[in-house]
Amino acid sequence: MTLEQRIANLLLPQVLSMQAYHVPDREGLVKLDAMENPYHWPDDMVQEWLDCMRQSSINRYPDAQATELKQKLRTRDNIDERFEMLLGNGSDELILLILMACAKPGATILAPTPAFVMYKQIADSLGLQFIDVPLLENTFELDMPAMRQAVQQHQPAVVFLAYPNNPTGNLFQRQHVLDIIELTSGLVISDEAYAPFAEASFLSELDNHDNLLIMRTVSKLGLAGLRLGYLIGHGGWIEQFEKIRLPYNINTLTQLSATFALSRHNIFEQQSQLIKQDREQLISAIDTIEGCQAFPSRANFVLFRVLSKSAQEVFESLRDNAILVKNLTTSHPLTRECLRVTVGTQQQNELFLETLRKILAQ
Ligand SMILES: *Cc1c(COP(=O)(O)O)cnc(C)c1O
Repeated sequence: MTLEQRIANLLLPQVLSMQAYHVPDREGLVKLDAMENPYHWPDDMVQEWLDCMRQSSINRYPDAQATELKQKLRTRDNIDERFEMLLGNGSDELILLILMACAKPGATILAPTPAFVMYKQIADSLGLQFIDVPLLENTFELDMPAMRQAVQQHQPAVVFLAYPNNPTGNLFQRQHVLDIIELTSGLVISDEAYAPFAEASFLSELDNHDNLLIMRTVSKLGLAGLRLGYLIGHGGWIEQFEKIRLPYNINTLTQLSATFALSRHNIFEQQSQLIKQDREQLISAIDTIEGCQAFPSRANFVLFRVLSKSAQEVFESLRDNAILVKNLTTSHPLTRECLRVTVGTQQQNELFLETLRKILAQ
């Protein structure tokens, strides 16, 4: 038997047919593709952080409950004691845990699309059927008749709603989200990865709906390297997911670093504030470029459509000029000819705009 035959015989068919999540090479590029916070910390804060790391007992297993970190997150996000939290190695891991727990034979997962790619990626890996309901063209609002129909027909175990949505950047109408929570007998995950920039949340609705969970992450805030996500909700759910969480999924360095960073949260608030202002400038600057249309955003990125050239060409020209954005033109019909740019430093944004203007003027 050849190695290829062994692999084909042994592995799950859904794994064999999957495409790996592609992370582009970033060497030497201005990285505006992954919604990272472009700012680091002042030197004295870095020094304090390193002092704190020095005291860590790296020979010991981490605190399996991450008690101190959870308390910090609770205080920061104002999470009521009545609700429980589950920590994940990024919210990606939380999506995996939720779907593992729901992966009964025949179970379906639903999300409006274009959506964050990991919902489908993880559903596929577990052999769960992923139902996508396209958003409305151009406004990227939920298509409520289609959502209703899909929920009734497929009875999804989980509905993912990113609020604001990635890659479109908009907040869905609040009442639409509430209607979906009411309509489905399954779980609804309000994925609030961009909460630091959105000034909107369904956290206050946890009291009214026991099928709602709130998912957040510190990645977009400025701690993407740590890999820390958290799920907030009724203890009944969290207790079940806890059973399948690997005991030490949040490592010691992440626990210490996040606890440290959250106790200096002023700096992140200042950075988020700046990013929000720069986002608005970036949107209007892109919009005034001939041949470009920017969409509104409540996140730290801007989706825009190229009208006068092919987005693929513009993407490649940007990359030739050492600027990396995300090319969405072939990922979904609703984002054809669209690129997504992360809000960078003011200098990076200027460089991006200057280069884009030059490319489109050619
Ligand atoms: C970036 C992103 C995530 C992933 O967050 P991690 O905590 O870094 O895994 C989840 N959901 C959405 C909508 C995102 O854009």
